[in-house]
Amino acid sequence: MITGVTGQDGAYLSSLLLKKGYIVHGIKRRASLFNTDRIDHLYQDPHVSSRNFILHYGDLTDSTNLIRIVQESQPDEIYNLGAMSHVKVSFDTPEYTANADGIGTLRILEAIRLLGLTKKTRMYQASTSELYGLVQEIPQSEKTPFYPRSPYGVAKLYAYWMTVNYREAYNMFACNGILFNHESPLRGETFVTRKITRAAAQIALGMINTLYVGNLDASRDWGHAKDYVEAMYLMLQQDEPEDFVIATGITTTVRDFIRMTFEELGAELEFKGKGIDEKGFIKSCDNNLPQVATAARIVPDTPRYGKGIFTEVEIILMILPKPSFFIPGITAVARM
Ligand code: NAP
Ligand code: GDP
Repeated sequence: MITGVTGQDGAYLSSLLLKKGYIVHGIKRRASLFNTDRIDHLYQDPHVSSRNFILHYGDLTDSTNLIRIVQESQPDEIYNLGAMSHVKVSFDTPEYTANADGIGTLRILEAIRLLGLTKKTRMYQASTSELYGLVQEIPQSEKTPFYPRSPYGVAKLYAYWMTVNYREAYNMFACNGILFNHESPLRGETFVTRKITRAAAQIALGMINTLYVGNLDASRDWGHAKDYVEAMYLMLQQDEPEDFVIATGITTTVRDFIRMTFEELGAELEFKGKGIDEKGFIKSCDNNLPQVATAARIVPDTPRYGKGIFTEVEIILMILPKPSFFIPGITAVARM
């Protein structure tokens, strides 16, 4: 069973598990418009008798609904990926974020316990590098203490400890995957990678001429979601439940990400100015791509994404004493 099946990771994980021969039960929210774009290629009509991809309406804020779905589907594995996953939006909706991301995890754990499934059902909790927040040491390791700096991070911290607590108190197979940022063409369009790549493509097509972003010095460890869902799957196949940190070990600044994106389009950028006055300009442009606007600017929009408002996980180093699995693309797998 996958909560958050309509999200980036839910879509990749569904494909992976279906390929492995699983029957996948996904929980999706009711919306006034279709919200299943990412999984439409997997959709099977409810009238088909031998379906292996089954969608249920549900919500992490609704305990009785979750208990019913878990009871009906009797899952061997639950991947709790559902969440209000945007750090900035969590400042606007802190209470809802706590309910869905924090107590939502408790509801899943309780559903497993109340239905007597603690021996049968393994559970993966989508924890996050945002738990480190105001980093207590650079580089971070699996021993670095947590210090979340956003309502999202705090809600996920509650979920993290609940998962550990249920594992220890009830002997459940429940694990946290502390995943650093992972992206893909399916990533939500307000996250910085998609915001930049979409805007760059629009600039190249002459549709817009400015991309506004926040802190150009912010750096992130960006991996690919397809690799990271495989790590989730492998965590539930271990002999013992454990928590893992997953990262690539490589950090890139937002500025370099922008630079590299424009390079892909044949345009070289030049950054001028300091701090909030820093702007990027197209310096030269491949003649084969005359549609790239020469006046495009990349303007920092600091009040929305400035330092001090957002957690900045600068550099990470994962120590690999005995990694229990290896996935190309992920260089850092650390047991907690
Ligand atoms: P995403 O694309 O934003 O997907 C989130 C999913 O959760 C969507 O299917 C969303 O449904 C669903 N959801 C939101 N609120 C819900 C609620 N109240 N009840 C049920 N479902 C709800 O996120 P993602 O990138 O796939 O990330 C998956 C998980 O990993 C999330 O828990 C995220 O916090 C965590 N995580 C992500 C990253 C990353 O870099 N991507 C890193 C670390 C941890 P709708 O489609 O209806 O909105
Ligand atoms: P997050 O790591 O979960 O907050 O993922 P985001 O993709 O939203 O942000 C990644 C990093 O880019 C963070 O350090 C943000 O502060 C930074 N950032 C800089 N400018 C922007 C922007 O315009 N939009 C977003 N979403 N993030 C930005």
